[in-house]
Amino acid sequence: MSRSAPALTDFRRIVVKVGSSLLVDSGAGKLRESWLAALCEDIADLHKDKRDILVVSSGAIALGRSVLKLPRGPLKLEESQAAAAVGQIALARIWAEMLGRHGITAGQILVTLGDTEERRRYLNARETIDKLLEWRSVPVINENDTVATTEIRYGDNDRLGARVATMMSADLLVLLSDIDGLYDAPPGEGRKVNLIPVVERITPQIEGVAGASGSELSRGGMQTKIEAGKIATSAGTHMVIASGKTEHPLRAIIAGGRCTWFLTPANPVTARKKWIAGSLEPRGTLYIDAGAVAALRRGASLLPAGIKRVSGEFDRGDAVIIRDMDGAEIGRGLVAYDAADAGKVIGLSSADVKNILGFEGRAEIVHRDDLVMGGA
Ligand code: GLU
Repeated sequence: MSRSAPALTDFRRIVVKVGSSLLVDSGAGKLRESWLAALCEDIADLHKDKRDILVVSSGAIALGRSVLKLPRGPLKLEESQAAAAVGQIALARIWAEMLGRHGITAGQILVTLGDTEERRRYLNARETIDKLLEWRSVPVINENDTVATTEIRYGDNDRLGARVATMMSADLLVLLSDIDGLYDAPPGEGRKVNLIPVVERITPQIEGVAGASGSELSRGGMQTKIEAGKIATSAGTHMVIASGKTEHPLRAIIAGGRCTWFLTPANPVTARKKWIAGSLEPRGTLYIDAGAVAALRRGASLLPAGIKRVSGEFDRGDAVIIRDMDGAEIGRGLVAYDAADAGKVIGLSSADVKNILGFEGRAEIVHRDDLVMGGA
C-alpha cells in the first residue's frame, strides 16, 4: 500500500533550507524582506509549539554581490569568497532581526565540509547547535563561503541542509526554493508533466526524472535536491520540497499546498544508530558497572561515574564497545573523551571531572544519541 503525505505539524525538529533565489530578488539585487518576514511568522508558529527549528540559509554570495554592485555573470573563486564575506553580515543581521520580532534569538553557524565529515568536528558542531536548541534559539546555518574552496565545499545548501538535518537527528528537512516539487518528467519536453506528491524511495527512475535545472542565483537544481533526499532519507529524516515563491510557504505546506515528500523507511533514531553500529570500527572498550548497565537500558547516557575500566587507543569521537564487568557487550557508541582522558575520569561524578581534567569535559562520556544498545 502506498504511503500518504505526512503532516508538517507532526514533526518535532525541522530544518528549513531557504534558497538564494527566495531571499534575494535577482532583478533588483535586494533582499525580499516582506517575504522573509512572512516566513519568520511561519517559523515562529512552529517554534511556539515546542518544536526545534533550524534554518539553513543561502544568500551570502548573492547579497554580497548586490551590496558590492558586482556585474552579472560568473564570479571567480576569490570573488565569491569576498562577496560572501560582505553578504553574510547582511544575511545574519536580517535573520536575527526578523526572528527577533517574535522573541526568538538567532545564532549564526558557519560550517565547512570538515565540520560535518570529520567525526570529532562533527561532534563539536553538534554540541554547539544542540546547546542553541536547548536555549530555544534558532540556529541560522550557512556554508563558510569565505574560506571554502572548490575541493572542500558542500557547494550547495541542499546537501548542506541534509547533512545538518542528519547530524542533528532532525525528523524533517524542508527545502524551499523556486521549484515546487518533483515532476514525473523533466520540464521543457512539451508534454504535460505532473507533480509527484510522495516519493517512497529514491529509485534510479526518480533520479532520471530529476533532470538538471537551476536558477542564476542558487547552485542547487533538482539533482542536488535528490542527492539531499538520499542523504536525509537514508539517515531517517523525511524531506519535503516546496516552492517558496508563495508568501507563508510553511503554512502552505500545512494547508496541503503543492510539494513533494520524500519518505524515510526508518525512524530517525534507528537509522542513525544503524550507522553507528554498522559503519565504524570500534577502537576501544568501556567496561561499566551494573548500575550504569541498568541506566543505559532505561535510555540514559553513559556518565563517567558508571565506568570501571577503559581499554584501547581511541580519540574523541571514535566508536567504542560498551561491556559489562563480565565482558558481555551492552552496546556501542561514539565516545566524547579520548582514551587518556576517559581513563582519568573513571568513576568520577560529573562535578569532579573538571577538577581532574582541568577543563570542562562533556557531562556524558557517551551521549544517548550516540549509543546503540544490544551490540551490533
Ligand atoms: N552558500 C551559498 C550562499 O550563501 C549558497 C549555496 C546555494 O545556493 O546552494 O551564497
